[in-house]
Amino acid sequence: MSWFKREDGEYEPGSAGSLPDASDSAERNVRTEGLWIKCLGCRQVVWKAELEANLNVCPKCQHHFKIGARQSISMLLEPGYELVDGGLRSTDPLKFSDVKSYKSRLRKAQEQTGLNDAILNAVGMLGPHPVVVSAMEYGFIGGSMGAVVGETIARAADQARTTRKPLIVVAASGGARMMEGVVSLMQMAKISTALGQLDDAKVPYICVLTDPTTGGVTASFAMLGDLNIAEPGALIGFAGPRVIEQTIRQKLPEGFQRSEFLLERGFLDAVVHRRQLKAYLVRALEFLHA
Ligand SMILES: [Zn+2]
Repeated sequence: MSWFKREDGEYEPGSAGSLPDASDSAERNVRTEGLWIKCLGCRQVVWKAELEANLNVCPKCQHHFKIGARQSISMLLEPGYELVDGGLRSTDPLKFSDVKSYKSRLRKAQEQTGLNDAILNAVGMLGPHPVVVSAMEYGFIGGSMGAVVGETIARAADQARTTRKPLIVVAASGGARMMEGVVSLMQMAKISTALGQLDDAKVPYICVLTDPTTGGVTASFAMLGDLNIAEPGALIGFAGPRVIEQTIRQKLPEGFQRSEFLLERGFLDAVVHRRQLKAYLVRALEFLHA
């Protein structure tokens, strides 16, 4: 999507080849991958090992780099968690093709991420709490939501309900997956229904919104948590700022669609630094369970 463009030569860990149309991404990674990377927040050069040791948060300016689904899960859950619901693959229901066929895009994303689609479910312990976690992978076609993502999150919600374990979803998505057309839009209803049932059963659901969370994902499950919390500086919105500016013919305010802006206006319950995220979730689950 055009509003997520990064500048040439910049690299984010966990998002290798994340741009759906970046046919040159492999070449770009080879060129820039090294011991040092330039921070997208402060533009300073950061030692990569130091960045990784710091949960991929810039030690100088606290810019939160994108992380993948695997890393989100291993950051939140105690060792010994189990990955579940991983067997689903998209059937390409529309036999979609633009400059490339959707099938070949899927194949490439699967090779690059080692995942079947833009989602991973896990069951394990978050501190003292048994939980179900569903984490999105932005590196897989922009974390877009097709039938597999929808079904996998719905299964996580169902499992949370039947086992009475709280559900944590880590959202990172450019929105619905266009290559699946209306099928991708139907996932909004499917997941929302599963979350409605989870709510009826009074099992807590917390959504963690990371950079970026947009489109149909924001318009459905990412805003339906008992708690909706975000990482600092995350882009969260439905349409992109450029589209909104063109529609309302007004300049948007500074920081529009960023976590802090949305917190101030009541869209979010908290903005939590990645380093404090786990401790925050443990406390929140104690509170919600009580
Ligand atoms: Zn920085």
